[in-house]
Amino acid sequence: MLPEIEKLLVLQDRDQRIAHLKAELKRVPIEHKGLEAQLAGLAAEADKARTGVRALEVEKKRLENEAAGKREQIARFKTQQMQTRKNEEFQAFGVQIKHFEAEISKIEDRELEIMEAMEAAKPALAQADRAAADAKDRVAGQIANLEEKAKTIEEQLKTAEAARGKFTEGISEDVLYEYTGLFKTKGGLAVVALEHEVCTGCHMKVTTQTIVNAKSSPRITNCEQCGRIVYWQP
Ligand SMILES: [Zn+2]
Repeated sequence: MLPEIEKLLVLQDRDQRIAHLKAELKRVPIEHKGLEAQLAGLAAEADKARTGVRALEVEKKRLENEAAGKREQIARFKTQQMQTRKNEEFQAFGVQIKHFEAEISKIEDRELEIMEAMEAAKPALAQADRAAADAKDRVAGQIANLEEKAKTIEEQLKTAEAARGKFTEGISEDVLYEYTGLFKTKGGLAVVALEHEVCTGCHMKVTTQTIVNAKSSPRITNCEQCGRIVYWQP
């Protein structure tokens, strides 16, 4: 194997690590957003449950007021009924009182339904609140970990980038230029082995001449299909 190829393989290994670290760093804000979305989702669930319970409370209060109004009306009718001397008026008040009493009974049924719904909704609300509170602590921890992880990656990246220059020593400028271009355009795989006459970069069969060159040429050989730098892997 050409000494230059050996050096390129080491450099490529370093560059792949740098690329990997950069990709990891790029994912951090996405993960961060995901965690915050999780938190917001749970808070929204709890809010929804709370709004539901509140709406039931408001409806219950409204029904209580409505029933109270009707009871007052009945009391007024009863007073008026006692004061009248006319039989038809007495009867008419009686009809009205019955009518209001029936309505109150309906309202009370509805109040009962609402109270049952409230009883059912309260544990769900408590659970949603608990889930949101738990998530707050858990996600805060996860975000702290994530920030810690990002710091570590940044440090590793700085170190790796600072050390990179050392690994380019002994590689000619032309080859380094070619390698750098290939690394960028070929998915971080610029230097690849020929295995069973196949380029392991593009998985295409190469010509006999390419194999001969890779085996014995003192110069860098490229895959005629994908352009990657190839070396012979016996
Ligand atoms: Zn190829």
